[in-house]
Amino acid sequence: AVRLAGVMKRFGDFAALNDVNLEIAAGEKVVICGPSGSGKSTLIRCINHIEQHDGGQIVVNGIKLDRSADSIAQVRSVTGMVFQNFNLFPHMTILDNCTIAPRTTLKLSRAEAEARAMELLAKVRIGDQAGKYPSQLSGGQQQRAAIARSLCMQPGIMLFDEPTSALDPEMVKEVLETMKTLAGEGMTMICVTHEMGFAREVADRVVFMDRGSIMEQGRPDEFFGNPQTDRARQFLSQII
Ligand code: ATP
Ligand code: MG
Repeated sequence: AVRLAGVMKRFGDFAALNDVNLEIAAGEKVVICGPSGSGKSTLIRCINHIEQHDGGQIVVNGIKLDRSADSIAQVRSVTGMVFQNFNLFPHMTILDNCTIAPRTTLKLSRAEAEARAMELLAKVRIGDQAGKYPSQLSGGQQQRAAIARSLCMQPGIMLFDEPTSALDPEMVKEVLETMKTLAGEGMTMICVTHEMGFAREVADRVVFMDRGSIMEQGRPDEFFGNPQTDRARQFLSQII
């Protein structure tokens, strides 16, 4: 579970997050949407401390992020993050991308880490790509490799920041299918995405942000069918 209470994040004088309150239960799937610059990436980056919030509280699976190396490491050990641009290590094979953190952080043996990686690469349907380098894969394959790499650390919570927006249209579907599979397995998921079909099908809740604040949230049918704020109506009219 994830709880944000009164979270603030400033860049200089600018409030990228302004009093954000959000509770996400274990197993819940939440889609975060909103205009460019509204604070979506900042929000999920604060949850695993890629960005450091400067007010309020963030508690992840009972661990309070308090700037101590210990709390940051603990929160990172239970969260996985997938980025728009995959962020695979370019000089390592897909298999090595997937085994490096389990070997160094979890102290798995090479054999254990490779067995786990191969299982997860098969699950995202790129088992046959394990020996290649990222640049030899399609965008959709690279993103599925990035998802598998995250899963190798056995996170209970997955954070996705526009995982399909750098992909060619024909590759979007395969990544969304992978995400749907994860959702079906009870993973807690917080996804920044403009894939509203995915939101309707998978999300328990849609959170709409504007100018650093959560403007409204609700079940997908409520949010899409009957948005409460002018900003949300305007946003939806632009993307659907
Ligand atoms: P997009 O849909 O374009 O990805 P977003 O909702 O993810 O937008 P954020 O990336 O969270 O928006 O940014 C929120 C605001 O904070 C923006 O105005 C952005 O310019 C600002 N911001 C984000 N990161 C930094 C930074 N490192 N330094 C200064 N300002 C930043
Ligand atoms: Mg963003």
